[in-house]
Amino acid sequence: MQHRTITFSRNVFLPLTTACRNRCGYCCFRTPVQEGCIMAQAEVEKTLKNGAALGCTEALFTFGERPEEEPGFSAMLAPLGYATILDYCEAMCRKAIEFGILPHTNAGILTYEEMERLRPVNASMGLMLETTAEIPAHATSKGKSPDVRLAMMEDAGKLKIPFTTGLLLGIGETMTDREDSLLAIRDLHRRYGHIQEIIIQNFCPKPGTPLAQSPVPTTDEICATIRMAKDILQPEIAVQIPPNLIDAGRLIACGVDDLGGVSPLTIDYVNPEHPWPALEELKTIAGNAHLVERLCIYPRYIERGWFDPGMQPLINRLAQTVQPRSSGL
Ligand code: SF4
Repeated sequence: MQHRTITFSRNVFLPLTTACRNRCGYCCFRTPVQEGCIMAQAEVEKTLKNGAALGCTEALFTFGERPEEEPGFSAMLAPLGYATILDYCEAMCRKAIEFGILPHTNAGILTYEEMERLRPVNASMGLMLETTAEIPAHATSKGKSPDVRLAMMEDAGKLKIPFTTGLLLGIGETMTDREDSLLAIRDLHRRYGHIQEIIIQNFCPKPGTPLAQSPVPTTDEICATIRMAKDILQPEIAVQIPPNLIDAGRLIACGVDDLGGVSPLTIDYVNPEHPWPALEELKTIAGNAHLVERLCIYPRYIERGWFDPGMQPLINRLAQTVQPRSSGL
């Protein structure tokens, strides 16, 4: 009998800055501009080096959106030798490639030109759609406007960037809103074919935030959303859940394809109270399914050549590295 496959990516998480122009009602990641709000270059390089030694293949650059709009940020970044966070990000993506790890950047809202600039040093990129609904939790976050987010995802499609997006559940949206969000992702993929995976992520309430007392989505509700995603989206789009936030073992049966980026080295800086499961635990979560390691660029985009030719040798090498590792899992 052929077992189904559940994939994951071995990554390191590099939050280049915790400064952000937005004020989302559920966030505990963002900090004011203050000492320590920028990850030092030495720390980035140490993480990349140690991650490479542990076999990590993905450098996840996720950080606050347009921090330059926060007073004092540019002056704090300048001594590092960079004018903008994207200058810094681009340089650190190059470092990641030097260390033998494929960059995947999620920097929040970017323009077409900014994505075009980062594309040559990223194997894939991402932006959570979160929801197409206008919700109070996003009232003070201009980057969370659904139209702005959908427009950026469309630009990523025009640029042929393999793209990760997703829904954040429990932030004030309804089941109908979730359906609308999935339909919007389906329509974008129909036009551009660039959505490689969607994350179905449950919001986790953080003390001291406006949504601290909000109810969390139940496992049944998450399962219903996963099933809806499988019904609505094109079959090639992988449905991912974060195994550190969710009863992943129970949800696998609802149609999950992927367990996302899991790190043997770095924490989940967005949900630091939730440690990543170890590899052995991932196997338990996958149950009867075959656990397979993947890169942050899905095979069909490698076949289509949707990446800068400069990354070809590294992609080839890492694809050969994860293949035998997967058969041993
Ligand atoms: S955009 Fe991200 S980092 Fe910024 S406030 Fe919202 S959740 Fe926090």
